[in-house]
Amino acid sequence: MKRKTTALLLALVLGASAVSCGNSGKAEGNTIKIAYLPITHSLAVLKEAEDLEAQTGMKVELVKYGSWTELLDALNTNRVDGASVLIELAMKSKQEGIGIKAVALGHRDGNVVVVSNDINSAVDMKGKTFAIPHRQSSHHILLNDALATAGLKIDDVNITELAPTEMPSALASGQIDGYCVAEPFGAMGVSLGVGKVLYNSEELWEDSICCGLVLTDKFIAERPEDAKNFVSSYKAAGNSLTQEEAKKVAAKYLSQSEEVLDISLKWISYNDLDITEDTYNKLVDKVKEYGLSDNPPTYTEFVKNDF
Ligand code: ZN
Repeated sequence: MKRKTTALLLALVLGASAVSCGNSGKAEGNTIKIAYLPITHSLAVLKEAEDLEAQTGMKVELVKYGSWTELLDALNTNRVDGASVLIELAMKSKQEGIGIKAVALGHRDGNVVVVSNDINSAVDMKGKTFAIPHRQSSHHILLNDALATAGLKIDDVNITELAPTEMPSALASGQIDGYCVAEPFGAMGVSLGVGKVLYNSEELWEDSICCGLVLTDKFIAERPEDAKNFVSSYKAAGNSLTQEEAKKVAAKYLSQSEEVLDISLKWISYNDLDITEDTYNKLVDKVKEYGLSDNPPTYTEFVKNDF
């Protein structure tokens, strides 16, 4: 009799703890691992990491990387559950058979073409050298768009791939004549006085897409409820990121001066982070037109918008 009572008590205790776990995510493995680079383009996911645990008990483990190559390697081998990443890089991975889905935008607008002080219009770009972080990037597309305003093509300039952190000093030393890259490195060049903004992204490409929030198919399949909570909380975090809030998050995660952040955060916003079919198709057109890829994934194959 005593043994039975103990068993019953144990069952009640276990039952009670299962209920309480149900309210706060899974007892085990309630963490989602998200890869990011310390740039303003990742601020929505950094902000979400702070909000999500308080709201749902689910933890975001942020994994910082120093380069897109390292970040992509982690994403492509399921060492993380998702990432805030240049969308063209993720599209390329998807094209090569990696199981990932884009579930939201990283940000809206927020890129600039920075040029040396002696370049005054797109025509002056001819024959000069420009840096981009990666061939598979919206920065490459924006450079093409900038040249197109003067009837020029990418072959009319020299393109070099550089690490974002090296671009302002490369411009200062004359090694390059301009660059386009994730922020705040454009703002850094402006702040240092080594360059100026020739174009903001929205002047070249309305509703441009740059970074995307990507989740692995494995995570979505194994933890659909967590994936749903994560994505809706992410979008809410984006909507709450006013310039002031963004600055607070940036101050915590990015080692940048207040002056650089003040310049950079004027160019970007984080509201309405849905990836619409229309804006994605425009990206696909540009990816094909400018030779980034002949066969990028379609919206249906790559974007998951039904959480
Ligand atoms: Zn971006």
